[in-house]
Amino acid sequence: MTGDEKKQLLQFLDLASDFLGTGYRGEREEYHIDDDRPRDVAGSDSLEAIAEEVRACQACKLCQGRHQAVPGEGVSQPLVMVIGEGPGADEDSTGRPFVGRAGQLLDKMLAAINLDRNTNCFIANVVKCRPPNNRDPEQDEIAACAPFLQRQLALLKPRAILTVGRVPTQALLGTAEGISRLRGRFFEYQGIHLLPTYHPSALLRDEGLKRPAWEDLKQLRAFLNSPDNNSPGNNSGNIGGVGSNRGALSAENTKPSEEQN
Ligand code: SF4
Repeated sequence: MTGDEKKQLLQFLDLASDFLGTGYRGEREEYHIDDDRPRDVAGSDSLEAIAEEVRACQACKLCQGRHQAVPGEGVSQPLVMVIGEGPGADEDSTGRPFVGRAGQLLDKMLAAINLDRNTNCFIANVVKCRPPNNRDPEQDEIAACAPFLQRQLALLKPRAILTVGRVPTQALLGTAEGISRLRGRFFEYQGIHLLPTYHPSALLRDEGLKRPAWEDLKQLRAFLNSPDNNSPGNNSGNIGGVGSNRGALSAENTKPSEEQN
C-alpha cells in the first residue's frame, strides 16, 4: 500500500468515527506516512554518485589505511562485470582497479575473449579499499561495502559476472567451497549468470592454473556468443548451485581456506 493510499484510508476511518460518534467532523492533525514500496534506487542513482560516496566512505576500518578508494571502472552497459577481492598496493596508489601485474594479466585474459574494460566490461572489487598487507577482507568489511557493489550491479545490469578468485566468489555465492571446485561452473546471482575463475595473481604464482583459467574464459565467451543469451535479461542456460545461500552477497562463509586465490 502506498503512503497516499494509507493516508486516504485513515482519513476515511476518521470521518466514519466522527459520523458515528459526535456527528460532525473533528479537527485532525495531518498524517505523515512513509511509502511501503521500495524506492527505485537505480532510477536516481549513478556510477559517478557511487564513486563519490566510495571515496568519502568511512563505513569500515579499511578507510583508515587507504590512500585512495577504488570504486571500479569500465563502461556503463557492460557485457561482463568482473569482480575481484580488493585493491592492492598499485590500485591503492592510483585509485584504479587491477592495474598491477595481476591487473595486466587480467587485461590480457579478457582481451583473449574480446573483452576490454574500455569497450565492454566493468571491473570492481567486493571491498573498495585496500586491506592492510593484502590480507583477505574480513566479513564485516565485505558486508559494509556490499551496498556499493549491489548498486553498481543494479545500474550496470551485465549479461554475466566473472568472479576472479576465492573471496569474491564465496562472498557472492554465500558458500565456503573452494575456488578449485567452483571455477568453470555457471551459477546464478540475482538473475545474472556468474562464472568463477582463478584470480590472475594465482596464475602468476602457479603457471599450471593458466590452462583451467583459459577453459573458464572460453566457456564465458561461448555463453556470450550463444544466441539464446543475446537478449538483455535473458539469462537462461545451465546453471549450477551451491546450496540454499546461492544468490546472496553474504559476508558469511568467507572463511580463509587453503585454496588458491
Ligand atoms: S572498504 Fe568499502 S565500506 Fe569500507 S571504507 Fe572502503 S568503501 Fe567504505
